[in-house]
Amino acid sequence: MKKTPNILLINPWIYDFAAHDLWSKPLGLLILAGLLRAQGYNLRLLDCLDVHDSRLQAIPGIKPATRRAFGTGKFYRTQVPKPSSLQQFDRNYYRFGITPEMFQESLLEGVKPDAVLVTSTMTYWHPGVQESIRLVKEHYPDVSVVLGGIYATLCREHAISNSGADHVLSGPGETQILKLLEKLTGYSSDKPSHNLKSDTLPWPAFDLLPQLDYICTLTSRGCPFRCPYCASDLLFPQFIRRDPIEVVDELEYWHKEHSVVNVAFYDDALLLDATEHLLVMLAEVGRRRLPLHFHTPNGLHISGLSAEVCEALFLAGFKTLRLGLETGDDERQQQLGAKVKPGAFSSAMANLTKAGFQPEQIGVYLLCGLPGQDPNEVAQSIRMVLDHGARPHLAEYSPIPGTPLWSEALRCSPFDLANDPLYHNNSLLPCRSDGFGLEELQWLKQLCRV
Ligand code: SF4
Repeated sequence: MKKTPNILLINPWIYDFAAHDLWSKPLGLLILAGLLRAQGYNLRLLDCLDVHDSRLQAIPGIKPATRRAFGTGKFYRTQVPKPSSLQQFDRNYYRFGITPEMFQESLLEGVKPDAVLVTSTMTYWHPGVQESIRLVKEHYPDVSVVLGGIYATLCREHAISNSGADHVLSGPGETQILKLLEKLTGYSSDKPSHNLKSDTLPWPAFDLLPQLDYICTLTSRGCPFRCPYCASDLLFPQFIRRDPIEVVDELEYWHKEHSVVNVAFYDDALLLDATEHLLVMLAEVGRRRLPLHFHTPNGLHISGLSAEVCEALFLAGFKTLRLGLETGDDERQQQLGAKVKPGAFSSAMANLTKAGFQPEQIGVYLLCGLPGQDPNEVAQSIRMVLDHGARPHLAEYSPIPGTPLWSEALRCSPFDLANDPLYHNNSLLPCRSDGFGLEELQWLKQLCRV
């Protein structure tokens, strides 16, 4: 067994027209960190999206980060030149996060790493991944860089050709990282490794972050549904749920040791089989009297919002809810997997209201800009949500390679989706058409504000 290796973990910049911190943390990377820590690795995190570094306040030209309710807010941002393929769009483009100079200083501050792990999220944010890896390689040309995460999984070939990483891991990193690091560093631990098939996940190492406004958690991974636009099964082929009591142990730890109050669930199917899972967990939260505020940025399944579940959500301290309605159009609903039966939305809203939720706590996601979609269909859905007193949130469609809807997106998009992930960016309305362009999108956004 060799000396304990030093691993540098990097959460790269976002490059985009717009980005918000809606409980955004590199959860996958922090789970890997938890796994590696248990094996004895020395870890350091370089978070390009840090909003708490006081040096940022003194930098001219950088737009300030702001904090809002429940720990969400805006990142620091700097306007940067657009990549050549985005020149045609008349909008400002930004790098969100710290400056490259701060990144370089941080690289030099710590000990030289034995390996660097870089995570990735949206496919169209790959410029931030490339830039991070380029700077790492400038400082440490002989250190191996491993790239994982969503972009690395969904656009593997693009990442291999363009990211500059020495190794690209696709799929859940926990099943691959220990073997790879052993190969790269020669280190192997005699500590028992995590049983990845069990109903537990390594606890994310949130304490590597400089300051915690909130944490995110996963009580399950994957989703048993197969919606044609969604990448859930490509990222997590198996649906695995954690022991609900062990989830509460984790929440209690972060609350008691790090004063965390706000918790965002990243689950894709939080309400599935709630009697055996979520309700058990929430009862335990109540029994331990944990004064937590919960949020569901990923969207809840409307069919799971029974009167019993809504009451439990309210009593446990859920403060903001996002529901996944997708559309109020029955035909479209059928095409998307028929998860919301006619009348289910009204019934869910009635249950939430009866439980005590106020309309401003309830946001409803509506898909917008699907291939061949008529803007009037979205407008009708917006009115339906408003009529029920909730807030509509447009979820502009982002085409994802490997999903059932991908080939239709390729057919109808005016952009080169297949070769340039920058065109997957949902704010470009990638599957725009003559009848559904940016003007119609503005009209729909206006309707949402009524
Ligand atoms: S959209 Fe939601 S329900 Fe559908 S497959 Fe994805 S995570 Fe599951």
